[in-house]
Amino acid sequence: MAELAQCADYAVSEGNSKGRRITEARPFARNEFQRDRDRIVHCTAFRRLEYKTQVFVNHEGDLFRTRLTHSLEVGQIARSIARALRLNEDLAEAISLSHDLGHTPFGHAGQDALNACMNEYGGFEHNLQSLRTVDLLEERYGAFDGLNLTYETREGILKHCAIRNAQALGDLGQRIIDKTQPSLEAQICNLADEIAYNNHDVDDGLRSGLVSVDQLEDVALFARHANEARREYPGLSGRRLIHETTRRMINAQVIDLIESSSARIAAAAPASLADIHRATPLIAFSASMAAENRALKGFLRDNLYRHYQVLRMTNKANRIISDLFGAFMGDPRLLPPQYQARAAGPAPDAPWGPDAKARSVADYVAGMTDRYAMREHRRLFAVGEI
Ligand code: MG
Repeated sequence: MAELAQCADYAVSEGNSKGRRITEARPFARNEFQRDRDRIVHCTAFRRLEYKTQVFVNHEGDLFRTRLTHSLEVGQIARSIARALRLNEDLAEAISLSHDLGHTPFGHAGQDALNACMNEYGGFEHNLQSLRTVDLLEERYGAFDGLNLTYETREGILKHCAIRNAQALGDLGQRIIDKTQPSLEAQICNLADEIAYNNHDVDDGLRSGLVSVDQLEDVALFARHANEARREYPGLSGRRLIHETTRRMINAQVIDLIESSSARIAAAAPASLADIHRATPLIAFSASMAAENRALKGFLRDNLYRHYQVLRMTNKANRIISDLFGAFMGDPRLLPPQYQARAAGPAPDAPWGPDAKARSVADYVAGMTDRYAMREHRRLFAVGEI
């Protein structure tokens, strides 16, 4: 078992944390970042991740990744990397588990559709919506809205957003305006997210039959590890070949990231968290792995995300989201009571304003799971459905 090492001086800690927006008593028997993680796991938006997808729609098959299993994979990868680099594992886990909380139903198609609907009303960004979820929308405490997470977890969740929105976020947005770096833990989650989805999209793409092993032999990262697996287990094929290959790909990317980041950190010699913010990004693949990773992403974009069967679903998702948005904007009385109340309430401040009705409709639609959005669409548009 890898020993628990003391964290580096430039890791985020309770000592250098900017704390919570509302001061609370110290937690018992866990640290502040473990408390963040626990609050995230218990929140409503986290449970909804089970029925939200990235590429495939939730009802298409029980074995495809959902945003919940994706977030768990990101958490696992991020923790391993954080531990190896003597960084704050608990923070890396908290950011990983919450990084997709603000995602709409139907993956990127849903986000693009909702952003288009919100064009005149300040737009819709999923990272910003994840922050809105943990800062405002979760209703779990008597004393405050949201989950009152630590600054560092919120910084990791926000990742990036439009400059005009960053300007309205105070301290948290300043980093985006100044173009300085977030914590190394946040940087790790970014890359762990990429490692997780590139590799599970290969696996899900193959399982769905939309891409083939034959096609993937053109992708260097896949071919190299598939050949290695075949050398070790001659005659290996089918699911075992795919899994032997993808787990080697994940492992190679994680090891590369640890080694390359370690070298960058050593060269930059940061002494404190403040040095991390001022430095160039220190968590990065080596140049050769970055190139292989880009090639894999390019393959997935051309062959999976733009596959005609995926595009058909994208098209349908677009229609469902814009129909729902249009119906609720046309008559907010169709919204559940708490969303009606917010729609009729005061105009929200930037970056959520200025239209209370549009923002409340966006919150409601963004919170839907894939199947809930399809059901709502039937309820509102199919005669004979209730
Ligand atoms: Mg993700």
